[in-house]
Amino acid sequence: MSKGPKVIVAGAGALGLVSALALADAGCAVTVCDPAKGPQASAVAAGMLAPVFEAALDAETAGDLDLLLAARNLWPGLAARAGITVDRSGTAAVGSEAWLADIRARLARMGMRGADVPRGMLEDLAPGISPGLEAVLVREDWRLEPRPALTALRAAAEAAGVQFRPWTVSGRGGADWLVVATGADPGLLPEAPELSGLSPIKGQILRLDGAGGGGFSLRGEGCYVVRGAQGLAIGATMEVGHSDTEIDLITLAPLAAAAARLLPGLAGAAFDAFAGVRAATADGLPMAGFSAMPGVILAVGARRNGWLLAPLVAQVVAACVTGADSGPYARRFDPGRFESGEAA
Ligand SMILES: Cc1cc2nc3c(=O)[nH]c(=O)nc-3n(C[C@H](O)[C@H](O)[C@H](O)COP(=O)(O)OP(=O)(O)OC[C@H]3O[C@@H](n4cnc5c(N)ncnc54)[C@H](O)[C@@H]3O)c2cc1C
Repeated sequence: MSKGPKVIVAGAGALGLVSALALADAGCAVTVCDPAKGPQASAVAAGMLAPVFEAALDAETAGDLDLLLAARNLWPGLAARAGITVDRSGTAAVGSEAWLADIRARLARMGMRGADVPRGMLEDLAPGISPGLEAVLVREDWRLEPRPALTALRAAAEAAGVQFRPWTVSGRGGADWLVVATGADPGLLPEAPELSGLSPIKGQILRLDGAGGGGFSLRGEGCYVVRGAQGLAIGATMEVGHSDTEIDLITLAPLAAAAARLLPGLAGAAFDAFAGVRAATADGLPMAGFSAMPGVILAVGARRNGWLLAPLVAQVVAACVTGADSGPYARRFDPGRFESGEAA
């Protein structure tokens, strides 16, 4: 193991693993601890790396396109480093002409433009698409398969000297630094009081094995549909304030109905359902950087964009330990921004 600073990373989700890899690459002696007891948001996620449609459709991140694009731009390097496949086919908004007019207007306000997809091409690229729907394609939004990505990140981290332990972290122990990457779990609150600023948002997602194939992801009215090597996924609910992972078919019914409006062949399909809990801050951006507690660094609160933001969060975390420049976005991730009143 490296003779650099000793770092314990609590949590082996997307933020913990990508941070651990960045820290190991920076010469730190890293141990990642995670008891892996419950469903993990990172494994449940759809895996979209979607700066443009997230900024266009989610009011919480409407002003953050620059930051979301910067995070997305770190993915080719991270994917090459860890052996992760990123599908760069793009994402198509598919819907009625009126809905697409609104999407085009939102893109235009952000200085972005989608390409209209001719109907014949849409049928080729999204077989089974409902007749009468139009599409606008954005090439900037990509995707990965979360479960294989977690496996690849762990393998890359192990190859870089990171140790893994199936332990629940309760303190910094003898390490120089503790990185808190515990998702929506508030257990480390005594070590990092900033965790009290996180709220849970439950997300349920539907999956259909064997209906995959890759190609572009679809954004529709009331759902998204993504297809990859692990099958098809339809997401996702945003259940603010809920931290349970019970599957609730009543809440999921509108999602299945919205997907069937896009792809009528999905009506009545026997989906599997999964649930995870996202952690959210008051301004929708993560907390990445120094805690008020000495020796503690936060990597939490990435809300619905944890996969997208993971490499940018990891860059800030590694800079905290090494003293390197943390880059132009670190201030917007600063865990202290809520105390100082900087955050809106
Ligand atoms: C349905 C759904 C769909 C989503 N889709 C997308 C998407 O398409 N694109 C995207 O970018 N994001 C998406 N997200 C959001 C994304 O999944 C999260 O933002 C991200 O996974 C959070 O990663 P994390 O590492 O912070 O937390 P988690 O993945 O929750 O990992 C936290 C880990 O910490 C461990 N832990 C907790 N306490 C301790 C402790 N004391 N000691 C040690 N370990 C501990 C837990 O066991 C867990 O494994 C989605 C989320 C959901 C729920």
